[in-house]
Amino acid sequence: MNRPLSAGSLIVTKCTRCRAELNHTIVAMVGDKIVRVECDTCHGTHAYHAPKTVKEAAAAKTGQTKVAAARKAKADPDEADREEWASLQSGMDPDKAVRYDMNATYRVNTLLIHSHFGLGIVKAVLPPNKIAVLFQDSKKLLRCG
Ligand SMILES: [Zn+2]
Repeated sequence: MNRPLSAGSLIVTKCTRCRAELNHTIVAMVGDKIVRVECDTCHGTHAYHAPKTVKEAAAAKTGQTKVAAARKAKADPDEADREEWASLQSGMDPDKAVRYDMNATYRVNTLLIHSHFGLGIVKAVLPPNKIAVLFQDSKKLLRCG
């Protein structure tokens, strides 16, 4: 239910003095258009500036969403892992890969083959008994030692 606005009604609009969206009391109207408002915070009266239309606001919002999505894609850790994999793969020699054994110990950059994840490269050794391994699809933490 939208009650028709009239002088004395409260609306939230930008105060030109406070430079913020604040409660205002409508002082004067022409027809159904608000022309002057009084800021409830600084009690200054000023001309009412109609807010942007819904269409404009939506367009602005869509633009922001696209930027946010682009940033998110760039920060995607899986994507970063895949890029890292691609850059490392050319230097890999699968013949030198060792079969993953949870009782063995590994060093960083050791190439290994996991029965389930396939070819991987040790990216970090995490004491006391874990290694971080970059596989083609993702990074995994595996037991070792
Ligand atoms: Zn104000």
